[in-house]
Amino acid sequence: MGAPESLIAAIAAQIAETAGFTGCATLSLRVRAALREVPREAFVPASERKLAYVNRALPIGHRQTISQPFVVALMTELLDVGPGDRVLEIGTGSGYQAAVLSRLVAQVYSVELIAELAARARRSLADLDYTNVEIRVGDGAEGWLEHAPYDAIIVTAAAPELPPALARQLKPGGRLVAPIGRAHDHQMLCLCTLTPRGTLATHRVLPVAFVPLRRAPPPARA
Ligand code: SAH
Repeated sequence: MGAPESLIAAIAAQIAETAGFTGCATLSLRVRAALREVPREAFVPASERKLAYVNRALPIGHRQTISQPFVVALMTELLDVGPGDRVLEIGTGSGYQAAVLSRLVAQVYSVELIAELAARARRSLADLDYTNVEIRVGDGAEGWLEHAPYDAIIVTAAAPELPPALARQLKPGGRLVAPIGRAHDHQMLCLCTLTPRGTLATHRVLPVAFVPLRRAPPPARA
């Protein structure tokens, strides 16, 4: 079992409080069901397990965090995905956001820079028999060209500007949600849609605090 009713209620309340900014009025039944299904405790380190169902971001090692449940819910709502969709995530982290999305779409592709986090997320997802998430170790700023174009793209680490490769891997009409801004401050969660003419329409949704999207180290010299 995933999020208990107390956490669902806290998330729904925060969605309602922020509706004026986000345009997202309520926690939908589909996202609610996904949150109820996915056990967040399976994605946090043992030392944090007692806090798994509190509406807070938590450390997952390597100076990274699993996002606050409200933020996971909001970003999932904003993506507005459907059962046939193929979604790209940048920043697998614990794998929790990917797990929530996997309950709502056909396939999730997720890119993570830190190999150890990717391996742990793969294990967590496999333990739950969530078979429609594929994780790759690499620099998410480049997206994942092999499976493009995507119906939706979610970026869960903040960059001053959206990496240009990502918009190119989105289907026309597709939605992209990303925190835009410098490390740790003045970030804005943005919802971008690709217009039929190929330009991005950006809507500023809510101030947020994400860990930075890091640059991949240059390839080792031979
Ligand atoms: N979605 C995650 C939370 C992500 S935290 C969850 O549900 O738990 C942000 C993640 O982005 C971290 O794991 C970090 O290692 C990763 N990251 C940072 N820069 C990256 C990059 N350039 N490419 C891919 N992943 C990156």
